[in-house]
Amino acid sequence: MAAIHEGPEFGIGDFVLLPELTLDAFMQNLKNRFEKGRIYTYIGEVVVSVNPYRQVDLYGKNYVDQYRGREIYERPPHIFALADSAYKTMKRQSKDTCIVISGESGSGKTEASKIIMRYIAAVTNVSGQREVERVKDVLILTNVILEAFGNAKTNRNDNSSRFGKYMDINFDFKGDPIGGHINNYLLEKSRVVFQQTGERNFHSFYQLLVGAPEDRLSQMGLTRDTTLYHYVNQGGDPKAAMIDDRGDYKSVVAALKNSGFDPKDIETLWNVIAAVLHLRQMHLERTLLSRVIAAGGQVVEKGLNVSEALYARDAFAKAIYNRMFTWIVGRINELIDPKHSGVRYAGKNTVIGVLDIYGFEIFDNNSFEQFCINYCNEKLQQLFIELVLKQEQEEYMKEGIEWQHMFLDAMAQKLKSERFTCRKLAPADKSLEHNRDFRIMHYAGDVTYSVVGFIDKNKDMLFMDFKRLLFNSSNNLIKSMWPEGKQLVTETTKRPTTAGTDFKNSIIALVENLASKTPFYVRCIKPNEIKSPVQFNDTRCKHQVMYLGLLENVRVRRAGFAYRMAYDRFLHRYKCIARDTWPNFRGNVVDGVKYLVNSQNCGQDVKYGRSKIFIRSPQTIFAFEEARDRK
Ligand code: ATP
Ligand code: MG
Repeated sequence: MAAIHEGPEFGIGDFVLLPELTLDAFMQNLKNRFEKGRIYTYIGEVVVSVNPYRQVDLYGKNYVDQYRGREIYERPPHIFALADSAYKTMKRQSKDTCIVISGESGSGKTEASKIIMRYIAAVTNVSGQREVERVKDVLILTNVILEAFGNAKTNRNDNSSRFGKYMDINFDFKGDPIGGHINNYLLEKSRVVFQQTGERNFHSFYQLLVGAPEDRLSQMGLTRDTTLYHYVNQGGDPKAAMIDDRGDYKSVVAALKNSGFDPKDIETLWNVIAAVLHLRQMHLERTLLSRVIAAGGQVVEKGLNVSEALYARDAFAKAIYNRMFTWIVGRINELIDPKHSGVRYAGKNTVIGVLDIYGFEIFDNNSFEQFCINYCNEKLQQLFIELVLKQEQEEYMKEGIEWQHMFLDAMAQKLKSERFTCRKLAPADKSLEHNRDFRIMHYAGDVTYSVVGFIDKNKDMLFMDFKRLLFNSSNNLIKSMWPEGKQLVTETTKRPTTAGTDFKNSIIALVENLASKTPFYVRCIKPNEIKSPVQFNDTRCKHQVMYLGLLENVRVRRAGFAYRMAYDRFLHRYKCIARDTWPNFRGNVVDGVKYLVNSQNCGQDVKYGRSKIFIRSPQTIFAFEEARDRK
């Protein structure tokens, strides 16, 4: 048990074992552990992680060795234990598993996903197959690539992921990674043309301008001066102190090369970035000032006014970048496709999915993007509640333990209806601007959305002229990004689906996919707003604990039995406390456990399942631990 491994000064390693469950006690424990450098704490098998905002020595080989193949309670709480648990479930029980990482911007989701991937890479392929090594390398390199093109400095996080990512890692029958697949969700493409004060465009723009060799830059007609380009300097600070754009450019180029991107394609990618930069600097050309449309079967040219032209230009820039990003993800998927990986594709193939997706967002100005992101979080939170409840019920059933239907059912009702469904506020709300604002009560808080630009973003329109222009490019890669450009002007098109509908459908598919797997959860907390490794901001942390529903999570875990342990482990751990079990019990394991329970007079507080002992109150387990300490 975690608390005991670490010593009492580190608080309680599993919130389920808090002697008294109140929000204050929860916060006190979380804070105490953070201040002592204990950034991980369990709620049963859920890992709560607080961003340390400093390099912590927790992920080296010595730690890998400590957690590899162990059970979750044998070592102090650690994200490695969760990764190992997901891996073991996948390997031993041949079940697909997924790891859902949630938390707000800057809470450490992406770092957690990388730590998990590195752990899996470290514990697999003992036989050293070359192709498996290649797949593992590429899986890790994809992070560098996707972060360059999909992450940006925001006011909340210097390396904020501006897209959602779900990654499956495929394993063969030996449990070695043989490939993977990435799904990306809603890249925040408005950033390509606009950044708020203090924020930057995607890293890739600065990497190119600061890092590319001189001759390459002049070939693209660019200069090193980032302040010259409107698309990258609206935030006012294109040179972010903490970011090494020059070094990063080198790493990204190396990552693209080493993961198997064609050198010509790599060149094209940077050319696309250059083209976007130029597009903003360009004086308005013919393509931008008019567009061709079909009217009554005739092709006619229609003039655009200045604001229409500027709008069209920005839409074009955003679309170019977005298509490029989608192409990169697609290319990565080809490179890691298990069918092509050359590893013999033995029938059995299981996956671990890792979800690193944007957390709940409340800004001063909330628009279409926040609406989509918060919708996604709403769905994931519902899934979390359903699965946590379901897992708990299934475990009791599997173990043949009678459980209190009433309690869990009542709990489920409460969680679903009261706090965790979003509701629109009454229209009488006076703080809303008439005809502009609407407000939704999300599980995580009330959010006021402004409808300005909403419909445009949802329609996500781009004139066909642009698509045709790029489809006719002599560069095959560019051409392949715009297949619909081949359509003739006079051909009628089906009304395209809206961005909102596309997003909604992709999230529904994601939730279905997650629901079909055995889930593991990492709940990330951001300790403060100032990236400080020492400050624990009580108000901010409390808010996150509340909207992540962590207290409810503990309540569900404690509803029936706070603690459970396989018989052999229990006997092994506590055999020293009674004479008849030390050094070994003569008899079967369950009888040994029963003997121990009787020796502590706590028979009324436990139930015996098929493979585990279930203990109702935390106090009982403390009594066992204390008895053990006295020996
Ligand atoms: P976003 O939603 O904006 O993408 P995020 O939750 O993915 O945010 P990260 O980018 O993972 O947040 O973390 C933000 C920063 O916090 C990192 O760049 C790193 O400096 C620090 N950090 C997070 N987790 C750790 C960790 N385990 N060890 C050291 N530093 C960390
Ligand atoms: Mg991130």
